[in-house]
Amino acid sequence: MEKLTNRSVQVDRSPMTFGEKIYLPAIFKGLTITIGHIFKKNVTFKYPEQKRAFSPVFRGLHILNRDEEGRERCTACGLCALACPAEAITMEAAERKPGEEHLYREEKYAAKYEINMLRCIFCGYCEEACPKDAVYLSETLMPTHYSRKTMVYKKEDLLIPNPKNHGNQ
Ligand code: SF4
Ligand code: SF4
Repeated sequence: MEKLTNRSVQVDRSPMTFGEKIYLPAIFKGLTITIGHIFKKNVTFKYPEQKRAFSPVFRGLHILNRDEEGRERCTACGLCALACPAEAITMEAAERKPGEEHLYREEKYAAKYEINMLRCIFCGYCEEACPKDAVYLSETLMPTHYSRKTMVYKKEDLLIPNPKNHGNQ
């Protein structure tokens, strides 16, 4: 049969020599490689006791920010959802009512804000697109989940604690 490439190798089917039959040279060769690694620099580390330092541009779990007075910054403008290449963000806008000025920074706010972490690719475009400094990607690693449902993060999961309430939202 005509060869398509010259990469094929003919398998050697000749009987094993005495040296090959006792396997000692092969064992010695393998041990030399193993022992050689003892003196090389470790390429692994003992996680979770040892943790690798994050890259300065690491992008982790999202947070929804508040202003200095503890009010929600997001105005539900939708720019983050528009910029998101994975279509992971959904929201519902609502109008601020009189007396809610201490809760929401502007007249409009996100009554519902969700990020589907199963879709998110942590590109950071939402953070770049936000004109209100409302959404950030933190240095927190995305935890593992047992159900797909809990991978959809709601506003309550994303919103940082209100500093005015000493950590309680
Ligand atoms: S990080 Fe990227 S993929 Fe994830 S929600 Fe933001 S824009 Fe979408
Ligand atoms: S997080 Fe920013 S970009 Fe997204 S809806 Fe809120 S204000 Fe707009």
